[in-house]
Amino acid sequence: MLSEKLQQALNDQITAELWSANLYLSMSFHMEKEGFTGFANWLKKQSQEEVGHAYEIASYIMQRGGIAKVDKIDVVPTGWGSPLEVFKHVYEHECHVSHLIDGLIEIAHAEKDNATQNFLWGFVKEQVEEESTVQGIVDRLQKAGESAIFYVDAQLGARE
Ligand code: MG
Repeated sequence: MLSEKLQQALNDQITAELWSANLYLSMSFHMEKEGFTGFANWLKKQSQEEVGHAYEIASYIMQRGGIAKVDKIDVVPTGWGSPLEVFKHVYEHECHVSHLIDGLIEIAHAEKDNATQNFLWGFVKEQVEEESTVQGIVDRLQKAGESAIFYVDAQLGARE
């Protein structure tokens, strides 16, 4: 059985994952409007992945006999800039998410809940990949400059 504190913290993470999903959807719509269909595709897939994380956490809470909740999701920013600005923001946001996961592990550790710590290690691993992938995109965009930006756009358009 999950402690009340841990259940609340995991439910807060569901809210954070859904907020992230909306953030990336907002970025995706902006990129699509600007004609970057590849970046738009990548961000939409990223958004779906965040919804998947929310499902995973909800399933885990229920598996442990807890109650999963869908809370109010705050509005996300709009009016994004260039692809480079967008992906720099994605990188910063993924670092923020990594920090949130670390915070959850600290709570699970303090509550002596080994099962939840074990569950969360999967997310720690995932965040290492996320940060690395997005850093790679930022690097490519920085090197590409104006002329080759559609080449990077096409690469990201291939994400399934
Ligand atoms: Mg996530």
